[in-house]
Amino acid sequence: MSTKLPSKKLEPHGNSLFLREACETLGYSDQVFELLSGASREFRLQLPLLRDDGSLQIFYGYRVQHHNALGPYKGGLRYHPSVNIDDTRVLATLMSLKTALVKVPFGGAKGGVNCDPHSLSRRELESLTRTFVEKIHRGIGPSLDIPAPDVGTNAQVMAWILDEYSKIYGYTPSVVTGKPVLIGGSEGREEATGTGVAIVMEQYARHHAERLEEKTVVIQGFGNVGLYAAKALHGYGAKIIAISDSKGGVLNESGLDVDALCSHCESGERVSAYSDAQPITNDELLRLPCDYLIPAALGGVIDEVVAREVKAKVIVEAANSPTSFVGNEILIEREITVLPDILVNAGGVIVSYFEWVQNMQQMPWERDQIDAQLTRKLSRASEHVFAVATGKTCSFRQAAYLIATERLRDAVAIITI
Ligand code: NAD
Repeated sequence: MSTKLPSKKLEPHGNSLFLREACETLGYSDQVFELLSGASREFRLQLPLLRDDGSLQIFYGYRVQHHNALGPYKGGLRYHPSVNIDDTRVLATLMSLKTALVKVPFGGAKGGVNCDPHSLSRRELESLTRTFVEKIHRGIGPSLDIPAPDVGTNAQVMAWILDEYSKIYGYTPSVVTGKPVLIGGSEGREEATGTGVAIVMEQYARHHAERLEEKTVVIQGFGNVGLYAAKALHGYGAKIIAISDSKGGVLNESGLDVDALCSHCESGERVSAYSDAQPITNDELLRLPCDYLIPAALGGVIDEVVAREVKAKVIVEAANSPTSFVGNEILIEREITVLPDILVNAGGVIVSYFEWVQNMQQMPWERDQIDAQLTRKLSRASEHVFAVATGKTCSFRQAAYLIATERLRDAVAIITI
């Protein structure tokens, strides 16, 4: 395995450097790297919003369509003040690699709006979403680009997108995934990413002849992914000792009562307002001694500084791009295992694919069929990554990137080269 590092300027998200490293190892030319790292096309949309108080506010929306060699573009839509074109490009590339790794017939895309959804009323959120669709409807569609929920968006936002798109093209449930089950969503999609995190961890533990039971787990981020990961891991018997959201977290070294904390948060309370545990900051949480640390919030949290101070044995990247390139190098030096994002959080796009198939077939699947196929797909992808890592004596991330990059390059080659 080549250990030569790319001579590119280091960046907060390491993805294009991880991709470059994979291309170098596979012996691909600079032109192939450029083809795989750049996006096919990008949208930037001006989104005026008339606020409830009568004032006008201008937001900006983005959609980056990275590659569609393996199928229609596919990826989440993020509502967060930090959304910008550069991060959206990184996340779109990750989607292409993720779909390639777990073999779902989709390409990769990502989008977002630079708004804080928590500071908008329901009417404002709906209006902003409908304006987004008004401006982008020619660029999305069931065979073109299929958005899904991500940070700050949910099934309701997907329902507004479906409704606005359907006004123009007629009823088209397959234009989005992650919508409410009642209007064409899939059973199990809401839980899929978090459940998938636990499935990959279970495969990893099994690979090492271990069990998740009684293993200590720390989770940063208690939204869609963090909450369902906690529920699934609790089901496997793991001991979840700390959880946080953006305002801070709670710690109980004997194990948190996950059901009680989920009920507390599902009623709209912050994690830090949960009284039956010790308060903890996000900085402290990332440095807690534990078996598994699961970043499940935003990208770039395990940077150079945090990577030196992490005390977890394994980092499970439930968030997209939580580890910087330098952070990753330090974790390797410190022999801390990283289960990479493109494998760990792929459960969401796998069940999104099942949802899209159900919409195209106009035939809902039973829940047990969805759960079984999710487990099968993620287990196979995990075993493949573990086998390549062993065979090439490389990290799990390098193995995942090698598999995904080669598959993506082969598909692009059939069409383009
Ligand atoms: P979400 O909006 O539902 O939840 C995000 C959580 O992170 C919230 O609890 C929020 O309070 C917390 N958070 C935000 N900033 C934080 C900070 N600085 N410190 C600690 N916590 C913070 O989002 P989500 O859908 O759960 O997505 C989380 C991550 O998982 C993102 O990186 C996303 O791209 C990735 N992901 C999501 C899906 C999906 O299906 N939703 C699929 C694949 C990957």
